[in-house]
Amino acid sequence: MTDKQTERIDLNSYINRQITCSCGHVHYSSVKLIDIDQGATLRLPEHIRRFGYQKVFIVADINTWPAAGEKAAELLDKAGIPFAKVILNYEEVIPDERVIGEIMTAYPMGYDLVLAVGSGTINDLCKFVSHRLGVDYMVFASAPSMDGFVSIGSALMLNHVKTTIDCQGPVAVIGDTDILAAAPMHLIAAGVGDTLGKYTCLLDWKLAHLITGEYYCPEVVSMVETALQTVRSLSAEVQQRDPAAIKAVTEALVLTGIAMSFVGNSRPASGCEHHMAHYWEMKALMEGKMPEKHGTQVGVGMILALKLYDKLADEEPDFEAAMKRPFDREAWQQKITECYGQAAEGILALEEKAQKNDITKRNQRLVVMKEKWPQIRQLIRDYLPEQHEMIQLMTSLNAPVSPEEIGVSAKRTRETIEVAKEVRDRYTLLQILWDLGLAGKYAEEIRN
Ligand SMILES: [Zn+2]
Ligand SMILES: [Zn+2]
Repeated sequence: MTDKQTERIDLNSYINRQITCSCGHVHYSSVKLIDIDQGATLRLPEHIRRFGYQKVFIVADINTWPAAGEKAAELLDKAGIPFAKVILNYEEVIPDERVIGEIMTAYPMGYDLVLAVGSGTINDLCKFVSHRLGVDYMVFASAPSMDGFVSIGSALMLNHVKTTIDCQGPVAVIGDTDILAAAPMHLIAAGVGDTLGKYTCLLDWKLAHLITGEYYCPEVVSMVETALQTVRSLSAEVQQRDPAAIKAVTEALVLTGIAMSFVGNSRPASGCEHHMAHYWEMKALMEGKMPEKHGTQVGVGMILALKLYDKLADEEPDFEAAMKRPFDREAWQQKITECYGQAAEGILALEEKAQKNDITKRNQRLVVMKEKWPQIRQLIRDYLPEQHEMIQLMTSLNAPVSPEEIGVSAKRTRETIEVAKEVRDRYTLLQILWDLGLAGKYAEEIRN
């Protein structure tokens, strides 16, 4: 790989300062230290001391403990830093009420730092628990598998609904490239999938800005695009577990997290591809099945979203007909109840509050879409990568590319296109299709 690719991201230029931005906001991330490099494990005690923490509560699971936790604990011991630990005894940890309780129960009073040893789920859990306990947390990353390291939102499964709760970001993100490069390939591929999902996510944001006037920051978009290009250009090296490439990918993931913290929510990193992934995860858990990794599902969602966007780019919608469409609230509620099962209550409550499907609001959006349709179509055509390139890239990492490969049936794919948007109050491709009266039609026409 060239030096240029590894040097493109300078994470330190984004932290420990307030950035007055052209979008009119002042951006700030609460993360104070990022050390993603060889030998970072050895520097862990020093990083903990630097901030004056006295006692460390380590949270790991049965996979991350041997991969990274054990060594960290040994070093803390040698450095004379007292610690307690909980090793969650699950092959796959579900971030639900039960596990939150387990961590809370194991926490000894007076410990002033939670050290999350892991990536996605452990990080989400520690983000939430440390925030509720009123102590700081650091993440010691075990795999470059997702982009939520520094964001403030914690993705949890509460009352069966995939929910993001604003908590706090970590004080520091530490990742040893030797550990990260030795992570299972499906976790590394998940990190790539989570990043490539930004194509459809950023386009969703651009379109939402055009159609609803939602806040939009071009600087933040450009940060996420840098992360995207880094990952897109390094897939061959990643496959070889090249440490420099793994470092660049991890930094790209952290950069996306900083972008989220700059905006204060997950808009820069989560669009329709994420809503589809959330839906699949919820459905799998309700059926007692273990869902695929978050980033794996996002990669599949991204490819499905590319297919839908490609169709939309060729569309000449009948705006008048779309505006005359009634909204049968009862039939919709029935469908939500069928599709979301145990989670339906939360989804119906969200709509009560958000009114995404209110006809007056929908028609206001349709008026704007009608006026800007040529621009919208052009934007879709210009912005997205080719489906075949993304499929090839994901396949080269042995990652699944179709819903079928992750156990999502053709029937479920169809219902995903119609109802996955209900999981969040966020304007994306799926709501655009619904607004235009195309969701049902596309659901029928898209093949697994
Ligand atoms: Zn900005
Ligand atoms: Zn994600």
